[in-house]
Amino acid sequence: MEQLPAGMNHPLDILFPGGKTRALTLSYDDGTVHDRELIRILNRFGIKATFHLNSGRLGSEGYLRAGDIRSLYDGHEIASHTVTHPHLCEFDEPLIVSEVSRDMASLSELAGYPVRGFSYPYGEYSDFISGVLRALGVAYARTVRSTHGYALPENFLQWHPTCHHGEDLLDRTRTFLDRDVPQGALALLYVWGHSYEFHDRNDWNLMADFAREIGGDRSVWFCTNIELCDYLMAAGRLEHSADKTTIVNSGDIPVWIVRDRIPCELMPGQSTRVRPA
Ligand SMILES: [Zn+2]
Repeated sequence: MEQLPAGMNHPLDILFPGGKTRALTLSYDDGTVHDRELIRILNRFGIKATFHLNSGRLGSEGYLRAGDIRSLYDGHEIASHTVTHPHLCEFDEPLIVSEVSRDMASLSELAGYPVRGFSYPYGEYSDFISGVLRALGVAYARTVRSTHGYALPENFLQWHPTCHHGEDLLDRTRTFLDRDVPQGALALLYVWGHSYEFHDRNDWNLMADFAREIGGDRSVWFCTNIELCDYLMAAGRLEHSADKTTIVNSGDIPVWIVRDRIPCELMPGQSTRVRPA
């Protein structure tokens, strides 16, 4: 059995929005037409996902059309996967910059908001590529290296998911939902894949069963990749007085904390007194 995460390295106990201790996020790559069926299932159960698209493939056979993506992915997140889905490990810096920055610019225009997330084509990543992404202002980048655990990411630019949906998803989901999350820990289930795999293997029932199992669970925060990233960044930026008795949220989104053992939402600009640790 995997260990649940020890929580963030933070003197305070952080909670997810709504005072929750579990979060689910999904990440699906390539933007084929099968995303339509996936979104239909997710929307029925109130589950959010991130869709990593190649702007250079939109409109070609089997892929979504550029003009359709804003409405289709409404309520979810559109993120980058490069323009042409190359092997980035074979590229020098200018080519990486071109593949990523042009994709983000095109997708941002189509989405109507700044696209800030990324997933590595073929899952190929390196510290060099991650450094180029950081310099471009990319907020996070997902790999395909399954952790089979529920910990929060240590490095958002090499964000390893829990599992591909083909790796015992229903068992992992039950483990995720059934275990007690100790105070001070936050648990994340992060699933990735391609929607065409459900089509090719004729197992859309897997996603439907998964969505039914977890979709109604009120202990779970359903979020996109960037929502989770922004939230944890905001939580990490809470500021403490020197004696640790006062904490202030100087960011621009609300953050939930445990104060005197009670969940408490700290609004932007708000400060509160807490017992010293
Ligand atoms: Zn891909």
